[in-house]
Amino acid sequence: MRPAQFTLHRPQSLAAALALKAELGDAAAFHAGGTELLIALKARVLRYEHVIDIKRVPELNGIRLRSDGTLSIGALCTHHRIANDETVRAMLPGYAELSEHVANIRVRVAGTLGGVLCFAEPHADAPTMLCALDAWVVLAGVDGERDVPSRDFHLGEFATAKRDDELLVSIEVAPQSEGTRSAYRCFGHTERPAVGVAAVWSTDNPQRLSLWAGALTAAPVRLARAEAAASEIAPDAPRADVWAALRQAVAEDAQSIATHDDLHGGADYKRHLVTVLAQRALEACLP
Ligand SMILES: Cc1cc2nc3c(=O)[nH]c(=O)nc-3n(C[C@H](O)[C@H](O)[C@H](O)COP(=O)(O)OP(=O)(O)OC[C@H]3O[C@@H](n4cnc5c(N)ncnc54)[C@H](O)[C@@H]3O)c2cc1C
Repeated sequence: MRPAQFTLHRPQSLAAALALKAELGDAAAFHAGGTELLIALKARVLRYEHVIDIKRVPELNGIRLRSDGTLSIGALCTHHRIANDETVRAMLPGYAELSEHVANIRVRVAGTLGGVLCFAEPHADAPTMLCALDAWVVLAGVDGERDVPSRDFHLGEFATAKRDDELLVSIEVAPQSEGTRSAYRCFGHTERPAVGVAAVWSTDNPQRLSLWAGALTAAPVRLARAEAAASEIAPDAPRADVWAALRQAVAEDAQSIATHDDLHGGADYKRHLVTVLAQRALEACLP
């Protein structure tokens, strides 16, 4: 099916895009890569009289290191670009690797990071990793910019902390210490992940684990018992002992996740996957 007719706008600046949206209100939607929006428009699940194509807005593009070492990824960066960017590969190899495996090549070259975050379809990869990395998003409205931590951004299925009239400008990740490594492992039998687990392990003093599971609930969830157990592990513990010390806590965290049976699998199966993927992600980032 074709989408219902709409007027296409192509603003050339952030201010122009925001002003257009303020003027057109609910009748308009932002369009980045269109990989989600166009499907919804064609299926007539969504209908807008105006579509604001933001691809020409320079403020939303580019990957750069800020003077304090913070990595700033423009909302328009595609998964493919992130996967192949030298700075991301050097600073966050686990995130670059994740981006290399999102969906399929057609979605990776068109789909943007801003798009996957704003659409908030729960079966996605990046949100889980960005929560584990303590990332934050920069949102812009006509009245200025604000920062929102990744972990507070997703409020539910297709629901975020972004106001309808705001644009997601960039995703920011603080500099990582030398002793910090991250990894993401996922599994699914459809095009999207059924479950994904992101681990960020820091051997700095104090030793710290950030462990998050995603896709099996509306928003990524923290595996808090495992994180607490990790802080008790001796810094010089043999690699083989680390998972043994965390296994029980991860299993308890997994059991406490309020997931449900759906086309991606039964609830028990998905909770089991959390433990398997947590072990794999952890082992991938242990020194
Ligand atoms: C077949 C298929 C398989 C997929 N598999 C996976 C997968 O395995 N893992 C995974 O993580 N993802 C997967 N995805 C999701 C994919 O990551 C997203 O489709 C893509 O990143 C969305 O980006 P986009 O630029 O195309 O968004 P668009 O379709 O352009 O926009 C999506 C929504 O976000 C809004 N929006 C976009 N950018 C902004 C912005 N900067 N500010 C404010 N609002 C904005 C739009 O208004 C729209 O509501 C899959 C998608 C498809 C279609």
